[in-house]
Amino acid sequence: MYKEYTILTHADYENGIKERKLLGLKCRACTRITCPPMPVCQWCGSRDLERTELSGEGELITFTVIRVPPEGFEAEVPYIPCLVRTKEGPSVVGRLDHDAERATQDLLGKPVKLNGSFTKGDKFSGGPHTCPVFGVRE
Ligand SMILES: [Zn+2]
Repeated sequence: MYKEYTILTHADYENGIKERKLLGLKCRACTRITCPPMPVCQWCGSRDLERTELSGEGELITFTVIRVPPEGFEAEVPYIPCLVRTKEGPSVVGRLDHDAERATQDLLGKPVKLNGSFTKGDKFSGGPHTCPVFGVRE
């Protein structure tokens, strides 16, 4: 009999972000959280996963300010792609909602929280994609 392995698709993940929910998978084998979703636990490889919602809170690990945009993103510059380590453990890629002129190394390690989403596609990707947008918590 067919077994449903995909408890949380990438489309589900993106739809969650649009509702300001960071969705992931909780592993029944090792109890850790996988995010963004994938078919197996990112920590132990188990397929015994259940859907969960993360807090949306985390720590800013790194970022860069894009001033010379890739084709299709000319209207977006400057923008700040970032890597956030969530409170629950996994790291997710998103954008940082911050004044690019004031984005310095002092931001590294700051607490951040999911505060929106950004959806866009370009001619190189398979249609629009949604990524989380994080704001620095003061
Ligand atoms: Zn696991």
